[in-house]
Amino acid sequence: DKHFSKEIVLVTGGAQGIGRLIADNFALTTATVIIWDINEQQLDKTVAEMRGNGHTAYGYHVDVSDLDQLLTSYERVVEEVGQVTVLVNNAGIVSGKSIFDISLEQFELVIRVNLHAMIHLTKAVIPHMLKLNHGYIINIASVVSYFGYAKLSDYCASKAGARAFSEALQSELYCMDKTGISVTCVCPYKIDTGMFTGVRLKHNWLFPALQPKYVADRVYFGARNLKGGKPPKEHPSIFPGVPK
Ligand code: NAD
Repeated sequence: DKHFSKEIVLVTGGAQGIGRLIADNFALTTATVIIWDINEQQLDKTVAEMRGNGHTAYGYHVDVSDLDQLLTSYERVVEEVGQVTVLVNNAGIVSGKSIFDISLEQFELVIRVNLHAMIHLTKAVIPHMLKLNHGYIINIASVVSYFGYAKLSDYCASKAGARAFSEALQSELYCMDKTGISVTCVCPYKIDTGMFTGVRLKHNWLFPALQPKYVADRVYFGARNLKGGKPPKEHPSIFPGVPK
């Protein structure tokens, strides 16, 4: 499947977990893939592995919570690799702390990584995509964007913002007509990654988790199945990762 072969794909937080598998899915279509991550060691390992598999992959050590660094890194990417045509806002963190224990600084960091970075990067990318009349913006929120969950107040607040932002963006682009830009928002649910395992162990949550490949495939086929940049009519922006 060479559907995305000409695209330049940027996946934030793509060194491991769900983002890594999203990066792999696009790389398999011979797209050019750029990964941003704060974890330099894991980033280098992942990019080396992808290149070893014959993929065109670039790694950038970026902390998306630093919004200035985020914008200068984006400019570097455009200069060094090219215009990003598929943006996957995937980087995310969770404190797993109760509202009584979390500091305001910790709370704000979660909002910055999960929501502000998404907004800043989207705003940087969109003018270029409008000029090209082509692009995909894929935002990873969470099923908890629909409801609150104990000891996840930071995370729920950030993800509800991410989902509402995605829907608003989609409506606005849709009203402008023929921008060529598709926006999707994926809301995964209990996925077996480092993030989930960390919180699960902390609170002794016993429920089972799904494999991250499930989400990566939803992301890939969700974008793949958009017809002419238009979202599906019913339930425009959301591809919930909740299994039926
Ligand atoms: P993960 O912890 O395995 O991966 C997250 C990646 O983001 C890591 O590589 C990490 O180094 C990177 N990252 C963290 N902070 C960063 C920063 N400041 N700058 C750059 N990179 C940073 O977790 P995951 O489960 O793969 O999470 C991916 C996305 O999926 C997140 O947005 C997460 O909120 C979302 N999600 C996960 C689950 C789940 O159950 N695992 C459920 C719903 C949504």
